[in-house]
Amino acid sequence: MPIHICPDCGYAYDEALGDRREGYAPGTRFEQLPDDFVCPDCAVRAKSDFLRQDQ
Ligand SMILES: [Zn+2]
Repeated sequence: MPIHICPDCGYAYDEALGDRREGYAPGTRFEQLPDDFVCPDCAVRAKSDFLRQDQ
C-alpha cells in the first residue's frame, strides 16, 4: 500500500498502518480520509498537497 508524505514536515501517512492517534484504522486508504484532512503534525498542508510514494 502507498505512503503519503507531507511536503512540509515529513509526516507520513502509511495506508497499511493508518494513524491510530488520529483515529484511522490500519488499511484506511488515503482517498478515504475526510476531504478537509490536514497534516496532523504541521496542520498546514491539505490532503491534495501530500506526495504519494508507492512501495
Ligand atoms: Zn505536515
